[in-house]
Amino acid sequence: MTEDRAERHRARMARRKARVDADIAAAAQDKGLLLVLTGPGKGKSSSAFGMLARALGHGHKVSVVQFIKGRSDTGEEAFFRRQPGVDWQVCGAGFTWETQDREQDIAAARAGWAAAACALADPTVNLVVLDELTYLFSYGYLDLATVLADLAARPPMQHVVVTGRAAPQALIDAADTVSDIGDLKHAFRAGVRAQPGIDW
Ligand code: ATP
Ligand code: MG
Repeated sequence: MTEDRAERHRARMARRKARVDADIAAAAQDKGLLLVLTGPGKGKSSSAFGMLARALGHGHKVSVVQFIKGRSDTGEEAFFRRQPGVDWQVCGAGFTWETQDREQDIAAARAGWAAAACALADPTVNLVVLDELTYLFSYGYLDLATVLADLAARPPMQHVVVTGRAAPQALIDAADTVSDIGDLKHAFRAGVRAQPGIDW
C-alpha cells in the first residue's frame, strides 16, 4: 500500500519534472526587461530595491531615480549610495499634498525624466529603477508618449523597473512583467507608524 503510494508519487513527479524541464528549455531568450510593480499593497519599491541588490551582486551598474521623495533618511538610500556602481538621484520634494506647489512639482518631474533619459541612453547601465514614476502620469506632470518612446529606445539588454500605484494601461501593455500587489492588510490601518527597516 505505502509502496504503491510512493510509486504513484514518483511517477507523478517524473511527469511534472518533464513538463517543468520542457518549459525551461522553451524559455531560451535573453533580453532587457521592462517590469512594472503596481497596485495598492506594500512591496513595490522594496521589491525594486531587492532586484537592485541582485544586480549589484552580479557586479552590474545600476541607476535609480526617485520621483517622489517622502523622506531623505531611508535605509535604502543610505545603503545603496555606499555601494560602488550605484547612481542614485532624487527628483521631487514629496507628495503633492506635502509640497502644495504644482509648478515646483512639474519642474522636479521634468528634471527627474531628464536624469532617467540619461540612464536609459547609457548602454553601460544594466538596471534602471524608476521609483514612484506612475504618479506623474496620474497628475499629468509627464508625457506618457515621451516616456514610452524613451523606454522603447533604450539599449536592448538594459532592464528597467517602474514602481507606483495605478500604472497607466499603455505602460502595462509595453511591459514584459507586471505585478499588481494587493492590499490584504497593512499595519498602518491598525495605528502602527512606519517602521525603520520595514517601511523606510
Ligand atoms: P515599500 O516601499 O514598503 O515596498 P510600496 O512601494 O509598495 O512600499 P508606496 O505606495 O510607495 O508603497 O508607499 C510607501 C510607504 O507606504 C511604505 O512605508 C509602505 O509600508 C506604506 N504603504 C504601502 N502600501 C500601503 C497601504 N496599503 N496602506 C498603508 N501604508 C502603505
Ligand atoms: Mg514605493
